[in-house]
Amino acid sequence: MCLRMREANVLVVDMLGFVDCHCHISARDFDKDIEEVIDSSKQVGLLALLAVAEHAGEFEKIIELSQRFPGFIFPCLGVHPVQDVSPGQQRGARLQDLNAALPIIEKYKDHLVAIGEVGLDFTPRYVSNDADKDNQRQVLVRQAQIAKELDLPLNVHSRSAGRPTIHLLKEQGVEKALLHAFDGKPSVAMEGVKAGYFFSIPPSIVRSEQKQKLVKQLPLENICLETDSPALGPEKQVRNEPKNICVSAEYISKVKGVSLQTVMEVTTQNALRLFPKLKSAIRP
Ligand SMILES: [Zn+2]
Repeated sequence: MCLRMREANVLVVDMLGFVDCHCHISARDFDKDIEEVIDSSKQVGLLALLAVAEHAGEFEKIIELSQRFPGFIFPCLGVHPVQDVSPGQQRGARLQDLNAALPIIEKYKDHLVAIGEVGLDFTPRYVSNDADKDNQRQVLVRQAQIAKELDLPLNVHSRSAGRPTIHLLKEQGVEKALLHAFDGKPSVAMEGVKAGYFFSIPPSIVRSEQKQKLVKQLPLENICLETDSPALGPEKQVRNEPKNICVSAEYISKVKGVSLQTVMEVTTQNALRLFPKLKSAIRP
């Protein structure tokens, strides 16, 4: 249970908990102690976790994890806008990266709760010209089409590309999307709110003025929780874990001036609206 809940002696935590809407639980960082990591996240009230993928090479591992922790780890498969070419070397995604992923997405389509992690990343070290940006756009457009065909939401990354990402999603007629760790301006985020999109807030909000401003503007009805573990933790350079979902929730409750219980209830309802397949994890 989160600290403030323990203090308040709130008992309803048995009935409801948090949902981590974006987590890289298949990362090698968790290979050695995944049981403990999952146990400690359950102790703070985590009910379910969406395991997102970055490339086809980790799809089978994500499916295996979802089978090892049924009703707790829910798989999302997709191709991230930044791909590793060799250790320490990365480039923007191209359609060829998606070709390797498509047969595996097709194979597991009935198990997926979303297509992700997909998106646009225009950080200068990954894109040097318009062709690179265009490749990323094509990969995202194709995955948006697949999500529509499968009636699945998108779990979306955008970095230095907030406006192009939201515009592309709207152009493609995407109705169900989670914008994770959105780094754009609040005014751009509000365009996403108008389109019915949700925004998930990671624990790094405690050290990010941009995310604090974003949360002030966003209606709670469009906010979800995430950890993006092992990245975006409350402390830089320290492995982030799903149990830190509390850090996001507590910070949002402070900024919004509502109870932690309210943040839990509303964000979990939001997650259920966006990802209806999570219903099997939420006990009435
Ligand atoms: Zn991520």
